[in-house]
This record gives sequence, structure tokens and C-alpha cells, in this order.
Amino acid sequence: MAMKNQIIIIGGGASALMLASLLPKDTAIVIESNEKLGAKILVSGGGKCNITNTQMGVEYYLGDEDFISPSLKSFNEKSLLRWLERQRLEPVLRKETQYFCKESAKELLDIFTKESRKQNIVLGEEVTSVDKRDNTFYVKTNKRTYTSDTVVVASGGLSFPKLGASSIGYEIAKHFGHTIVKTAPALVGFTVQQEQFFFKTLSGVSTEVNIKVGAQLCRGALLFAHKGMSGPAVLDASLYWAKGKIEIDFLPDFSWKSVQGSKKQISSLLPMPKRVTKAFLIELALEDKPYYKLTKSELEKLHTLSHYTFAPAGTFGYGKAEVTKGGVDTSEVDNITMMSKEEEGLYFLGEVLDVTGRLGGYNFQWAFSSAYSCSKSIKGKIQ
Ligand SMILES: Cc1cc2nc3c(=O)[nH]c(=O)nc-3n(C[C@H](O)[C@H](O)[C@H](O)COP(=O)(O)OP(=O)(O)OC[C@H]3O[C@@H](n4cnc5c(N)ncnc54)[C@H](O)[C@@H]3O)c2cc1C
Repeated sequence: MAMKNQIIIIGGGASALMLASLLPKDTAIVIESNEKLGAKILVSGGGKCNITNTQMGVEYYLGDEDFISPSLKSFNEKSLLRWLERQRLEPVLRKETQYFCKESAKELLDIFTKESRKQNIVLGEEVTSVDKRDNTFYVKTNKRTYTSDTVVVASGGLSFPKLGASSIGYEIAKHFGHTIVKTAPALVGFTVQQEQFFFKTLSGVSTEVNIKVGAQLCRGALLFAHKGMSGPAVLDASLYWAKGKIEIDFLPDFSWKSVQGSKKQISSLLPMPKRVTKAFLIELALEDKPYYKLTKSELEKLHTLSHYTFAPAGTFGYGKAEVTKGGVDTSEVDNITMMSKEEEGLYFLGEVLDVTGRLGGYNFQWAFSSAYSCSKSIKGKIQ
């Protein structure tokens, strides 16, 4: 049983582990339903964990700028890298701006496991409810009840239930009068409607694209998949999509003008995988012939590859989504301390809040930055 003055942290993922590491020894109890800490960290970033990004700012997030900004400023990517350096972790830069662990995400998890050992860690216990009576929180698990005057909800979103995700964070928030902004899977692949079923025949093929969703432009690889489409550009685009059409430029750095009058076959002319060109030619009912032989209407059809517009059927769902967008309404949480404006002593961190980052290390950065803000506030209360 935790001592009354120990802070209870619900969840043992990224934000909880950063908070447990930053707080003084023996001040917190971390309750994690899995038998191990940080399960998501281990599988993140293709097993290498994309920790943060050199390009950092509120513009890389979906959520309220005024809420996100103070935490991102007080613990930005540079502060995080300095903290990691002190723990002897030197992430490596990949894809120009993204910081990853050198060999494996375990390097980061090992640091957190070591650092958080100074707190009381409880594994394999699932929090089922939180109540408050006489200024004391009662945190009930499937095994016992813990009490404290401070509770931090760091239980993440709904994505990847097989790694321990649950709706407990939202339930606790609602119990204390919070509003939940509608949640949806994000950083996730799209399923397609019948007109795009031919994508499935290209399963496994990847091509560079620009995807436009509303005013947002997402650049990167599109991976055709058995269920529709995936890959970095698609995951990024999913953050901004609710329903309706998206526009894909399959020829992002290509100018049709530069090939005017070309005698080359279409499939040799276009800078995209031949299999993709051929599948589109079939779909557009075009023959693979020398470009200069195309009639005006055939040219028009072919040029749609630069602005191929359609409505995805949906997403691959929470089972495959890297994050959950939506969550605890941030107008009801203090932007400096992460404490609830509805309930004294109740805090929210990381993904459970209505803050979602783009692909590229932004979600871990948010988990760590919000944990830092909370740690400052809690340390002030302890001392
Ligand atoms: C496959 C995958 C790859 C990803 N790759 C990246 C990446 O490279 N870079 C990046 O920035 N982000 C990545 N993300 C997103 C990132 O992992 C999350 O945004 C981040 O972990 C959120 O931190 P958190 O602390 O809020 O929640 P989590 O890390 O999800 O931690 C929440 C913890 O709470 C526990 N929990 C839930 N319910 C209960 C309960 N009732 N009782 C007790 N414990 C409970 C869960 O088991 C979990 O351990 C990835 C996500 C996935 C799924």
C-alpha cells in the first residue's frame, strides 16, 4: 500500500517513466497493468524509437497551441537530448531531422527502468477506478486500493490494445467532470473503397508522394498494403483526416512540361515504380504507348496522377494506429502544471490529453515535455 503522501502515477509508459525519473526518490508509486514497463517504447520507431525531432514547435501538433506551447518550450528537443546525454544515451539522426536510438529502443527503456527504480513500481495491476473523498484519492486496482492526495493519469490512449492500452484515462477524466474531445485512431493506414481496390494488387510496393488533406501537405513514402495504403506519408495524413477526400500527387518532383513531345513509353517515362504506373494505366483505361501519341483527353486522364483524388473508406483502426487523437479537453487542464482545473491534485500527461503530434518523434516529445511540466509543479508541492 502506498503511503498517503506518495504520488500515484497511473500507467508505466513514456510520460509516466519520465515523470518517475524526474521526481525525487521514493515520492511516487507507478501502477502499470502490463508485467513490464514501457511496452510501447520497445516497439516504437520500427524497434529503434523515434525519440524526437530537430524541427520542433506547436505547428507539428494537433491541439490547442496555447496549451502545448509552454511545455514544449520549457522542455524542448534540446533539453531532452541533454537529459538523455546525462544518462549516456546519444540518439542518432536519421531521415535528416529524426532522432532514434542507435541500435534498439531498449537503450531508452533501460534508462527509464534504471531511473524509475527509485520509485515504487507496481506491475501487473490494472487501475479500474479513481474516487475522491475527504481530499483523498482512492485508486482502485484489480488487486487493492491505493490512497494519495495526488494522482497523475499517464495511461495513454486507445491505440494498440495488445500493448496494454485502455480507456481508463478518459473514464477517470469524465468521473471528475472533464470533457473528452472525440477520439479517433491516428498515424494509421487507410482502407479504400471499391474504386481503389486495385491498390491491393500493389501490396508491398512503395512510392514517394505528396498527400493533401485540407490545407495540410504530407510528404513521404506511400506503401500499398493488403488492406489499402500505409507508409509514413499516409500515417501523417491520417492525423488531419476525419472523412472526405484526399489528394495524392504520385509524381511530386515531376513536371509534365519537361516531357512534352517525348517518344518514351509512359511506363518508362514516369518516375515511379513500373508496377504502379502499369496498374494506374489499366485503371485509367490507357494503353502504355509513347507519350507524344496521347490524345488531349488521354493526357488529361494521365495527368490526374499528379492530383489523384478520392475518399478513403476509413482507417485500419486502433489496433494498428500509432496514436489516438482527441482526448481530455485541454481547456480544462492547466497549461503550466498539467493539473486538472476541475479537481485539485489530479494531473493528466501525454497521449490521454487532446494533443497529437505528427509522425517523427513528436508524440514522445509531448509525453516527455508534459511530464517535465508536471514534475516541476509536483516538486514545488513536495518541497
Ligand atoms: C507501434 C507504435 C510505434 C510508435 N512509434 C513512435 C515513435 O517512433 N515516435 C513517437 O514519438 N511516438 C511513437 N508512437 C506513439 C507513442 O508511443 C505514444 O504517443 C506515447 O507512448 C504516449 O505516451 P503515454 O505515456 O501518454 O502513453 P503510453 O506510452 O501508451 O503509456 C500508457 C501506459 O498505461 C498503461 N495502462 C493503460 N491502462 C491502464 C490501467 N487501467 N491500469 C494500469 N496501467 C494502464 C499501459 O499499459 C501503458 O503502458 C508509437 C506508437 C505505437 C503504437
